[in-house]
Amino acid sequence: MRPLTQSIMRPAKRDVMGIGIGPSNLSLAALLHPIGRLNATFLDQKPEFQWHPGLMMPDASLQVHFLKDLVSLVDPTSRYSFLSFLAKKGRLLQFINASFSRVLRCEFEEYYRWVSKQIPGLLFDSSVENVAVEDGALTLHGSSGRWRTGRLVIGSGLTPYIPPAAVDMICPTVMHASDFMHRKISFTDKRISVIGGGQTGAEIFKHLIELTAGAPYRVDWISRRANFLPLDESAFTNELYTPEYSDYFFDLPRNTRASLICEQKLASDGVSGILLSSIFRRIYEIQYLRSSFLELSLRPARELVSMCKGERGWRLTLQHAHRDIPETVDTDIVILATGYITSLPPYLSSIAKRIAWDDGFQVEEDFSIQWDGPPNCKIYVQGYARNQRGVADPNLGLIPWRNATIINSIMGAQLYECSPQKSFIDWEVPLTDHEDATLLTSIQG
Ligand SMILES: Cc1cc2nc3c(=O)[nH]c(=O)nc-3n(C[C@H](O)[C@H](O)[C@H](O)COP(=O)(O)OP(=O)(O)OC[C@H]3O[C@@H](n4cnc5c(N)ncnc54)[C@H](O)[C@@H]3O)c2cc1C
Repeated sequence: MRPLTQSIMRPAKRDVMGIGIGPSNLSLAALLHPIGRLNATFLDQKPEFQWHPGLMMPDASLQVHFLKDLVSLVDPTSRYSFLSFLAKKGRLLQFINASFSRVLRCEFEEYYRWVSKQIPGLLFDSSVENVAVEDGALTLHGSSGRWRTGRLVIGSGLTPYIPPAAVDMICPTVMHASDFMHRKISFTDKRISVIGGGQTGAEIFKHLIELTAGAPYRVDWISRRANFLPLDESAFTNELYTPEYSDYFFDLPRNTRASLICEQKLASDGVSGILLSSIFRRIYEIQYLRSSFLELSLRPARELVSMCKGERGWRLTLQHAHRDIPETVDTDIVILATGYITSLPPYLSSIAKRIAWDDGFQVEEDFSIQWDGPPNCKIYVQGYARNQRGVADPNLGLIPWRNATIINSIMGAQLYECSPQKSFIDWEVPLTDHEDATLLTSIQG
């Protein structure tokens, strides 16, 4: 129940407060709860647990193994695991027999919601509007009143990225992909342009070309990338999604980290191979096997450089990466599957000047941010440290480990085992060589 009178009373005190209840902070709540010693409250503006509802296409699937759930990687015995959910729902054997190559996102959302209903201290319909320092503590102000804490964990998600050409154009027919399922507009006989060649662009393109009732007239798929490229899910690339690699990456110089992130783009932002194949097969059916009137246009290596109102709908101008000739596309609906960026959450604006910001928060090893707040106040961030922790940071795979690290830091004790399992790859120069190099430098010096 929401404490209605809290805004006029003294703020409620909590050992830990979380802003946002997505997978990141839900995992934190699930790992904190069995410890039992901390008084924690998490706030989310949504009415109940929802996982990217604007992109919950019925057949969208998870891009990670289901064992990368909220808890299993640090506590496989937890009652909040995905396997525990399947067992409690009485579908464990059928789940095995169904042999999904990838679990559907809607089932993972159901699992998340099931966990969210069991843990006390999760408040929905509670948006946070401001975080301030008052009387030496962090005070949260929002629709559920005032809360006071010394340990704040930010898990409020990333910000949809709108490319400059479309910044002032958002309207019922120009939308970011995160709104796709919310917009109740008709696609019937429309020309639709999907901008963005990553997983989300691919999911939306597939959804549109599979519509039978209310099918569009034409769908364009436009991407800056040189082709419609697959996610690299190979075994050695998946070693980038390990605590050991995250720690190794954290210690690298800033420029090296930045160039590795570009180099590793397809390890996180490519399209899953299964989805690419099913899109290709669908195009084959449309072209050769069905009497379909749907027109398709696939245009990689193009960047949206400007857009304006056309005679009917929109006129997009694209710049080809290899030909110096601008291209125009006339369209009715524009869907920007252009990803997400890290930006300072608006509710931190009153303490923004005290926060170290260099294209993102500057995090310490325990995911607390650098800021000049009172020494007893720590702010931890979830999913905001891609620049310092690598491509895995905004994704699901390392969430339990990151929360184990945060919990150990909050408790000042090793409650969860965090030492990384040894990778097959020697990321780091062996210690003996480090020592030899240090010795050499001191002799030469
Ligand atoms: C469609 C989609 C599918 C994805 N699938 C995968 C996948 O399969 N595998 C993978 O590894 N990664 C995936 N990701 C990437 C990543 O794992 C998810 O984005 C994940 O949801 C991040 O979790 P989060 O808890 O950090 O943030 P979010 O899930 O974004 O949750 C943030 C929460 O904060 C709340 N909030 C925001 N502002 C406030 C405020 N002021 N007050 C209160 N509450 C607030 C929001 O309502 C929201 O519920 C996917 C991303 C998207 C967009």
